[in-house]
Amino acid sequence: MKSTTSNNHPKFERTLVIIKPDGIQRSLIGEIIGRYERVGMKLAAMKMMVPTAELIEKHYTLDPEWRVKTGVKTIKGYTDKGMTPPETDPLKVTEKILRNLVNYMTKGPAIVMVWQGAHAISIVRKLTGGTEPLTSDVGTIRGDFVIDSYALTDQDGRAIRNLVHASGSVKEAEDEIAHWFKPQEVIDYRLVQEGILYDVNLDGILE
Ligand code: ADP
Ligand code: MG
Repeated sequence: MKSTTSNNHPKFERTLVIIKPDGIQRSLIGEIIGRYERVGMKLAAMKMMVPTAELIEKHYTLDPEWRVKTGVKTIKGYTDKGMTPPETDPLKVTEKILRNLVNYMTKGPAIVMVWQGAHAISIVRKLTGGTEPLTSDVGTIRGDFVIDSYALTDQDGRAIRNLVHASGSVKEAEDEIAHWFKPQEVIDYRLVQEGILYDVNLDGILE
């Protein structure tokens, strides 16, 4: 069997993406989906809902390390800019973030999706951009369409509004897809363009 058809070929990698309530309110659904679509990713599952507090809290704490990692990243965001963080204990930083996140993510409809393709997790994160829009790269979704910063959200006591969630690792993607979707809701199908993306010999173009 050719490597492109075996189940561990990179083209089978999947990642979870959520268009957060601000993405929908900013009328950016098409723009966001278009960016993942045009790079060559395949949409494997999609649903729209107003997420419950339970779903959001569980989503962010599926990874037991998330609390520490997010606290450390936030503190680094301050120190990298020569600023003093409001808290020095990463867990205290995250507790507040989680409370604000639940508040933000349950305020309106969101769209939850599974995208599939080679290196789906890294490619989708690259197109999405870094967490803090102030420092997200130009050309990314968060860099192009949002003005927000840790300083601003801390002052106002709210979560960073950065339009999109995207899984950060293989483990995170697996856990998050299982959290939001039943296995039968994620569809296995062939997309015509996959021929040009992955076929080894490009057979079937010429008549
Ligand atoms: P990412 O979404 O880039 O993977 P994290 O997993 O670290 O980022 O955090 C999850 C979400 O929590 C972020 O997308 C953002 O909406 C919010 N968030 C993270 N850190 C902060 C912070 N320091 N202040 C406000 N909101 C934050
Ligand atoms: Mg994350």
